[in-house]
Amino acid sequence: MSIATINPATGETVKEFEPHDAAEVERRIQAADDAYRALASTTFAQRAEWMRKAADIVEAEADETAALLTLEMGKTLAQAKAEVLKCAKGLRFYADNAEAILADEPLEDPSKVNASKAYARYQPIGVVLAVMPWNYPLWQVIRFAAPALMAGNTGLLKHASNVPQAALYLDDLFERAGFPAGAFHTLLIGSREVKAVIEDRRVRAVTLTGSEPAGRSVASIAGGVVKKAVLELGGSDPFIVMPSADLDAAAATAVTARSINNGQSCIAAKRFLVHADVYDAFAKLFAEKMAALKVGDPADPATEVGPLATESGRSDVAELVDDAIAKGATVLAGGKAVDGPGWFYEPTVLTDLTDDMRIVLEETFGPVASLYKVADRDEALRIANQTTFGLSSAVWTTDPDDERFFVDGIEAGAVFVNGMTISYPELPFGGIKDSGFGRELAAAGIKEFMNLKTVWKA
Ligand code: NAP
Repeated sequence: MSIATINPATGETVKEFEPHDAAEVERRIQAADDAYRALASTTFAQRAEWMRKAADIVEAEADETAALLTLEMGKTLAQAKAEVLKCAKGLRFYADNAEAILADEPLEDPSKVNASKAYARYQPIGVVLAVMPWNYPLWQVIRFAAPALMAGNTGLLKHASNVPQAALYLDDLFERAGFPAGAFHTLLIGSREVKAVIEDRRVRAVTLTGSEPAGRSVASIAGGVVKKAVLELGGSDPFIVMPSADLDAAAATAVTARSINNGQSCIAAKRFLVHADVYDAFAKLFAEKMAALKVGDPADPATEVGPLATESGRSDVAELVDDAIAKGATVLAGGKAVDGPGWFYEPTVLTDLTDDMRIVLEETFGPVASLYKVADRDEALRIANQTTFGLSSAVWTTDPDDERFFVDGIEAGAVFVNGMTISYPELPFGGIKDSGFGRELAAAGIKEFMNLKTVWKA
């Protein structure tokens, strides 16, 4: 895959980039290693000052950067701006909290281990490689970079090949904010070059956000050289609506949860499991609202759903929908690609789904909702848990017993009650099953790439 900006709203190649050659990759890995040593002599307070400066830069340049994200991957301008501003929030969160999160953890009663003093200390581990996707080209990277740099690690970014300008924006952001040169650099390389970087002795760990095949490959390479990996992979999150729910709010949120980022979010609600008592009312509201979404130029402020980011991404979505329709699914809204230039796909709602349809178990990375009528909460839970994914989930109910049932029973890294899944710097984020392992954000996220050193004193 060539490294290029291709406008998904038109299909036109805007700019192509020469990949870094082996010598440049070597230079950047060495710079990251050198910067790691330089960071060792800095304090949390110093790093926090640089981190806040990075947040200021991001905010000051928000409009320009948002336009770049829209150009490269097609999200609406308003959503692009929201993403950029969320990055500033993430940077400040770790500037404010890293030192307290990583404070020494003393053993209250050291005599239990025959010591006068015993504690655990968090120390950085070195250079960490981040392999990142295009769907949130800034936020996905920032949620790795902010904790990494505050912890004293340094980062190398292998970004998705279709967002090189976002990658290059991030390439010098932290240096501009004051971090040592090389503390965070982009490698303009293809996915085939990732193996050698993971295996490089100076690179200590890898984090990947992306598809399951990419995750399997990266984690097995890391395992082969005994390096830690964190994987944030795909999802097919359930959105469960029970009879006690506020149906108007549930339907409106369901539309946002399925169409945000043009339907290309790992934590998007993808399967809507609705109790039979409220199914007809919900289905009507939901299908009408999905059909009414304004699809078009993502730079137009009136647009609610832009194009899919890549041509192959749109073909993947179309194949899943076509397969379901061919096997008997009913189309309540949309159902096909939009004619004309660009990679647009109609916001779609499918129902009458059967287990032989690919869409039942596979992830749909586009504005396509699978709608199920369920007889009771047991059936809702069975369908919620039937995929191999386990990223997040949402449950709409005001019944405390139903809430407990789903919070306990859903196999996922998160459950949102009467709301949609959103990532917050303050909350841990990550999945189980084939959605990956490890956590990002909050205290858990910064602790993933640390050496927890035990200190015992006689
Ligand atoms: P992808 O193809 O896996 O790409 C993600 C990144 O991995 C890109 O930088 C890509 O580089 C690289 N890559 C691909 N194959 C690789 C390999 N074999 N070895 C090393 N690197 C490799 O994913 P995508 O289709 O662009 O993104 C969509 C997927 O990401 C969805 O499944 C979505 O759910 C998931 N996602 C998960 C989260 C989460 O937090 N759990 C967040 C966002 C997205 P190239 O671009 O050069 O191929």
